[in-house]
Amino acid sequence: MDKILIIDDSVLQAQAVKSLLDEDYEVTMCDTAEEGLRKAKTGKYSLILLDVIMPNMDGFVLLRELQEDIITKYIPVILITSLTDTVNEQKGLIMGAVDYITKPFKPLIVKARVNTHIKLYNYRKQFMKDAMIDELTGIPNRRSYEKISLARWRDAVRLKIPFTVCMFDIDKFKMYNDTYGHPAGDRVIASVAKTAASYLKRSTDFFARYGGEEFVVIFLGEEAAAAFAFMKRIRQAIENLQIPHCASISKWVTVSMGGVTVEAGEVNAYNETLKKADEMLYIAKDQGRNRGVWCNEAGEQWMEEMGGTL
Ligand code: GH3
Ligand code: MG
Ligand code: MG
Repeated sequence: MDKILIIDDSVLQAQAVKSLLDEDYEVTMCDTAEEGLRKAKTGKYSLILLDVIMPNMDGFVLLRELQEDIITKYIPVILITSLTDTVNEQKGLIMGAVDYITKPFKPLIVKARVNTHIKLYNYRKQFMKDAMIDELTGIPNRRSYEKISLARWRDAVRLKIPFTVCMFDIDKFKMYNDTYGHPAGDRVIASVAKTAASYLKRSTDFFARYGGEEFVVIFLGEEAAAAFAFMKRIRQAIENLQIPHCASISKWVTVSMGGVTVEAGEVNAYNETLKKADEMLYIAKDQGRNRGVWCNEAGEQWMEEMGGTL
């Protein structure tokens, strides 16, 4: 059942709306903008009904805050208010509210509008999945990876250039969630993706979210040493974000990397290559995390020497 959040300082008004929607949705009410923001940031809601006039923080300010956070920016917000003038309606809609309902409202109309926006929200979510874009990070998702990786391998075979695949995974991320909360964890995943993406700009570079806190990079044309050097810069850039992670191996959020560079050949060697990258990642984790481990097809292996401990 989709979850709706009502943020309204008038409990009576909120209750009236809630009773309209209770049958079809799981509705939560809160009577301050601050608490509303906190609840919204859990990322659980499919729609927010927001009152405009509230003490301390008004609905417009809250709307702006919601749109600036990666977790809440796509949640549709319907403003529901006693302000009936066009100026405020215009302001709310221009700011990005999906709808504007004035009080006193007609129950069936509110219900219909809510239904429509929740439907649209769910379509959007499904569309992003089908479109092969990961919603949280905006980079390609696993499905996209499954489609693209073999095609890149074939490009490398045809062009007779080296093929590189690198997997990297955020260190001690379960502890991060346990310490700072899941929404904060989501923000870390988005920051890590953004940082790595800023380095992977060539048309032949491919970067995807492989799963939870694990990413995969494919690129063509670099020899092992250059490929490893390049990925080390990305690893370092992520560490340099200095996102506090007191329960990890360094003070900050870090990643471990495993990569392999080969001369691409037969297709079955492609699966072997991916497995090899995974093995390298495992070694990086095992050797203390926050480091990269690399190998080539001759079986030569390199590891960054770091100060980290297990
Ligand atoms: P390691 O250093 O060995 O990688 O340890 P780890 O804790 O990072 O690895 P583990 O596989 O034990 O835990 C991964 C955690 O990542 C558990 C899961 O809750 C979290 N996670 C996966 N996907 C998401 C997500 O989308 N958002 C958030 N916030 N956490 C996620
Ligand atoms: Mg991890
Ligand atoms: Mg993992």
